[in-house]
Amino acid sequence: MQVVKTISEMQKISLNLKREGKSIAVVPTMGYLHEGHLNLIDKARSAADIVVMTLFVNPTQFAPNEDFGKYPRDFERDRLLAAQQGADYLFAPEINEMYPKGYSTVIKIGQIASVIEGASRPGHFEGVAMIVAKLFNSVLPDYAVFGQKDYQQTLVIKQLVSDLNFPVHIIVAPTVREADGLAMSSRNSYLSREERSSGSILFVALQEALKAIENGTRDRKILNAIMLKELRSVQAIRVDYACAAHALTLDQPPEFISGEPVVLLISCWLGKTRLIDNALTTIPGQGIKKLFVEGI
Ligand code: AMP
Repeated sequence: MQVVKTISEMQKISLNLKREGKSIAVVPTMGYLHEGHLNLIDKARSAADIVVMTLFVNPTQFAPNEDFGKYPRDFERDRLLAAQQGADYLFAPEINEMYPKGYSTVIKIGQIASVIEGASRPGHFEGVAMIVAKLFNSVLPDYAVFGQKDYQQTLVIKQLVSDLNFPVHIIVAPTVREADGLAMSSRNSYLSREERSSGSILFVALQEALKAIENGTRDRKILNAIMLKELRSVQAIRVDYACAAHALTLDQPPEFISGEPVVLLISCWLGKTRLIDNALTTIPGQGIKKLFVEGI
């Protein structure tokens, strides 16, 4: 696996690969790799000839009061893991390479980026959109693989790709979980032992709401209340949001109808660590084919 540090070198490599008729899949990450990230490499591998993992802790997607400074970093470990998993290139630029002095453009996404997670983290998705656009222009991929773990992010990126006509096919890979259901995350390394043992409550809350949908609940507020009740069974938890929404538009109607794709989205704080998770389903009904199943 070759490590690439500059945009111009990455573009040169990608253009040469394309001339040879090779397809390229990119896997954008902020590093501190875990099995969730490594599974994205496998997905990329099955989509394209060449896999480029990117490693960049993107300052523009962190608010000033967030954890950019203490975000876990271990380049050597990440390099070994990405190579072992079969990535062909690791694009790992420095901050000045991506955001040189004088850099001033912003991308504004609109509605899909301003609700739920976007409302909790103003500016976050604009930072995500900017770095993803810059990574696409650096790697020139045919495919880009993202995790369902950051569900709203996948919607934002699809909006970006559609609105700016990036010739990139977006692949969404299922959330990889610990044995107790906690979604893997680089931020899980912040959790104390006690917090870690409570971490599975997000998964439990999602499962309870999914069960309620299977059993006929259609009322959005009732679904939200089911998740909240479960989450609040852990005393140390502070819920940021727990809400059901239309899975494509993130609209929040009073009731969902048969055949509607629904996403359940949770964010909460365990001590100083902010965790997010989600689940997808389709509201059952006669003759309704499931659009979404967890893991697709
Ligand atoms: P991050 O390094 O946290 O910015 O994540 C990089 C990519 O990995 C994003 O597309 C995430 O959605 C994805 N990802 C992170 N955690 C998981 C997980 N547990 N399962 C699947 N994908 C994940």
